[in-house]
Amino acid sequence: MRVMAIKRFNREDILNFVRPEKRKVVARLAELKPTGISFNDSIFRVLYDGKVLRDKVIIKPHYAWVGGWSRKNPVIYIDDDILASPDHKELLSLLLHEAVERHVATTYDLHEYDEAHIVAESVEFNWAVNHGVSYHDYDILTDLIRKKESNEP
Ligand SMILES: [Zn+2]
Repeated sequence: MRVMAIKRFNREDILNFVRPEKRKVVARLAELKPTGISFNDSIFRVLYDGKVLRDKVIIKPHYAWVGGWSRKNPVIYIDDDILASPDHKELLSLLLHEAVERHVATTYDLHEYDEAHIVAESVEFNWAVNHGVSYHDYDILTDLIRKKESNEP
């Protein structure tokens, strides 16, 4: 899920939003660096947490959450408007978020909307700032998609 404006990882979030028994693993996963990112033939791949994550990417029109994933299958969903972004790295950034979120939620039994999202946001943010993604532009883009697809003013 990539609804809110992204922000830098904040250790306070772990205390506020993560169950005590999951705090250690969330802190560890949030600091891991992803490598070997590729997106070809509708498959997104990344090396993360010692594994090759491999997810099929399905483009959805009118997807208010901008990005999402399946609990049952290695599948990521993204809104079609993200493809209109002139910056391919914004797309990779979003796919990275969803792939990491899916992996940590399903592998470590983390809650999707807070625990796994905190990890995904941290990994995504660190990767994106190192790859020159403008977070200002990126937030404007995802906010536009969310508002359009959910018919918010
Ligand atoms: Zn998320």
